[in-house]
Amino acid sequence: MTTRTVASATRPGSPGSLRLSARAVALLVAAGGAVTVGAWVMNTPGVYGLGGWLTNAGRLTGLLAGYLLAVALVMMSRMPALDRSLGSDWLARWHAFLGRYVVCLLAAHTVLIIWGYAVTAHTGVVSETGTLWSSYPDVLMATVAFGLFLLVAVFSVRRARRRVAYETWFYLHLYTYLALALSFAHSFANGAEFVSSTFNRLLWSALYIAAVGCVVWWRFVTPVLLNWRLSPRVHAVRRENAHVVSVIVRGNDFTVLHAQPGQYFRLRFMTRDGWWHTHPYSLSAEPRRDYLRFTIKALGDGSRFAARVRPGTRVWMSGPYGAITAEKAGGRKVLLLAGGIGVTPLRALAERLSRRSGRAEVTMLYRANNAADLVLRPELEALAAKGGMRLSVLLGPPGDQSDPLVGTRLRSLLPDVADREVFVCGPPAFVTAACDALRRCRLPDAQVHAEKFAVEV
Ligand SMILES: Cc1cc2nc3c(=O)[nH]c(=O)nc-3n(C[C@H](O)[C@H](O)[C@H](O)COP(=O)(O)OP(=O)(O)OC[C@H]3O[C@@H](n4cnc5c(N)ncnc54)[C@H](O)[C@@H]3O)c2cc1C
Repeated sequence: MTTRTVASATRPGSPGSLRLSARAVALLVAAGGAVTVGAWVMNTPGVYGLGGWLTNAGRLTGLLAGYLLAVALVMMSRMPALDRSLGSDWLARWHAFLGRYVVCLLAAHTVLIIWGYAVTAHTGVVSETGTLWSSYPDVLMATVAFGLFLLVAVFSVRRARRRVAYETWFYLHLYTYLALALSFAHSFANGAEFVSSTFNRLLWSALYIAAVGCVVWWRFVTPVLLNWRLSPRVHAVRRENAHVVSVIVRGNDFTVLHAQPGQYFRLRFMTRDGWWHTHPYSLSAEPRRDYLRFTIKALGDGSRFAARVRPGTRVWMSGPYGAITAEKAGGRKVLLLAGGIGVTPLRALAERLSRRSGRAEVTMLYRANNAADLVLRPELEALAAKGGMRLSVLLGPPGDQSDPLVGTRLRSLLPDVADREVFVCGPPAFVTAACDALRRCRLPDAQVHAEKFAVEV
């Protein structure tokens, strides 16, 4: 299940921001794919013999790999229109999915071109590979690029990904930018579509300038401007329980961010040992003009670091990101399904939803292994006491008698669950189990807005 938006509209608080549906994005990507295939058709007067078929299949797979690479790049550019419409989870999954296709297409391109050239020249595959490396401009560079893509793909396979630290995986990913630069030169030097057509070269350059421009603008320039303007600093660090702290950040004027409860930021605490790693944390209270709050559980080195940050520490932040916002609920009844520390964005959402006009009913089911794992409970109880929502705390290990995600128990707890917009947040296993349970209770995917507290590939 994914976060999704169906129609184009403007977002409250962010005038004029563009909303895109998953279908519109898919259509746009397919249209670009059709233009790419069109460029191959226009530059292929005829295909003759086995060598010709193999070589042309190789050209086509190379072109499509190049096109999908640009699309995958845009998906991870953190462009607000995409992020707020489709959600970071959805984009990360599709980026990983496209990445796998790109590597398969590149492998097919390599094999087909070598084989096709070998058949046409009546030589062996090994000697043709040598000829391509020594006589064709930029083929050696393209081979290095392919090796880099392969390396990143190997480390992104789920089993390998779990064995390496997030940071290792992330920094390894940066090699794709080098690979991209190396392969771009190759396509212009050797691609028949580009050698003979200035128009195609301009179109391809525009595609890559736009894709790289999105990355540079949204991932680098925008955060620099934002941090310079807002000058965010840690105001206080408050201990919530043995493993959890709330970090309060103050700055110049956070209203320019148009942040919404349910969204998250990437934070980097600018200390000697903290500046080099960044982590995503959700707003755990409604954002205010000079106040943002994040509630952070110590799970590893990065999150443990938050408890040691001192007031006055400069914070480098980018965002807001994420599509789980109150507008998804419309005027409908809501279920907030929180697993452990996943309560943070739902706590902020509860605050916003409890002030909705008309006040359709909001229920929060908060699941944790034991009472010590509950965070922000007094605040949630205060919201419930004011009549803003109903709160039900369910303690116990997964699968026990109190687990609301077993079978169709959700329906017994909340007979009208199928009439609700449901917001789910927590560790990946909890979110997956919750989405399965909601499907069993016959909720359509479009009614479920989920966010996992980890990047999954
Ligand atoms: C959208 C989103 C919102 C989140 N909001 C909160 C929150 O409000 N409060 C909270 O306590 N936690 C939140 N998390 C989880 C938090 O980001 C991770 O617990 C933290 O990054 C772990 O880093 P670590 O070095 O302490 O642990 P590690 O032991 O390095 O990692 C633990 C897990 O977190 C993942 N992870 C590590 N670093 C990152 C990163 N930079 N980006 C994404 N995933 C990472 C790892 O892949 C692993 O699955 C959120 C995660 C996401 C994706």
